[in-house]
Amino acid sequence: MISRLNYSVIYPALRLIDAQQPEGIMQKSLDKNSQMECPRHGDQRPAFICRHLQHGEELGFHQPDAPPMADWPFQNAWCDKCDRVLMQEGEWNERSEGFADIIAICEGCFEEVKQRNIKKL
Ligand SMILES: [Zn+2]
Ligand SMILES: [Zn+2]
Repeated sequence: MISRLNYSVIYPALRLIDAQQPEGIMQKSLDKNSQMECPRHGDQRPAFICRHLQHGEELGFHQPDAPPMADWPFQNAWCDKCDRVLMQEGEWNERSEGFADIIAICEGCFEEVKQRNIKKL
């Protein structure tokens, strides 16, 4: 099983978000104490999801097997389709990461996205 997202790939994606929103959510580079300001949840730690999950419903919700590390305490998740690409590729690489198109959201939003995308039996 793939344990976690390749963070070295996430970094450029984050800078991309930065570039699109100059006065937006990530002004400085990410470290373990980083927070972002959510219009609904206030100052929160960022979390990372694939773009499909953002507005999706019951798309499946995959998280790393290992818990977040102390020096990188961020949550991340991806949907069924991303998981299929990930399994084909065997790792987070340009293709799987490109398909996931990872975005940063706050941990409060992450919980909501999780509840919405977990498949109901
Ligand atoms: Zn996805
Ligand atoms: Zn939020």
